[in-house]
Amino acid sequence: MIRAFIALPLPAEIRSQLAVTQFLLPLPRPVPPANMHVTLAFLGEVPEAVLEEADTAFAALRAAPLTLSVSGLGVFGGEKPRNVHASLAPSPALDHLQGRIVQAARRAGIRVAGRRFVPHVTLGRMSPGQVGAHELAKAFGEIGAVASPPFTVAEFALYRSILRADGPVYDVLAEYPLGG
Ligand code: ATP
Ligand code: MG
Repeated sequence: MIRAFIALPLPAEIRSQLAVTQFLLPLPRPVPPANMHVTLAFLGEVPEAVLEEADTAFAALRAAPLTLSVSGLGVFGGEKPRNVHASLAPSPALDHLQGRIVQAARRAGIRVAGRRFVPHVTLGRMSPGQVGAHELAKAFGEIGAVASPPFTVAEFALYRSILRADGPVYDVLAEYPLGG
């Protein structure tokens, strides 16, 4: 079995910008900038043969490159924050592609959870309650508006994730060009 997910890689300039933001936030477990990404579909633990079939389906998808931008900071976990992230500005093209990727994965036999897609870049994780919601809100206020210039993403990728005690290790298993 392979723990896998589909995500968009981010340009180095955007990851650098977000690395600066990370330093201004109370983040017990910051995401290394090299690992920053936008998850489109978490595939979970998938048998290799199924993943190969899904790979064929992902490779068959045709879509134009995406123009995206970072816009704002957010928290998952409410009063007991567990994830601090940068949000992406709304992109109908991204939503559409994400839906097609989930559909392709399901057709290949992968059970993908049907939760609403909230495009984001995780900046850090914490045990629930480790950092107070109020403390985070205060840091957000001090940082002010976080926004990036528009950037282009010309591929999505299939990642393997190996969970380690000192954090996950991601490997790109396949890249799928957009508009190529
Ligand atoms: P760790 O679990 O050690 O904190 P991680 O979450 O980065 O590290 P994975 O759990 O392998 O590593 O997740 C890979 C990607 O998929 C991450 O972007 C993660 O946020 C996302 N992800 C993980 N589980 C789910 C899930 N159940 N639903 C949606 N996305 C998920
Ligand atoms: Mg995880």
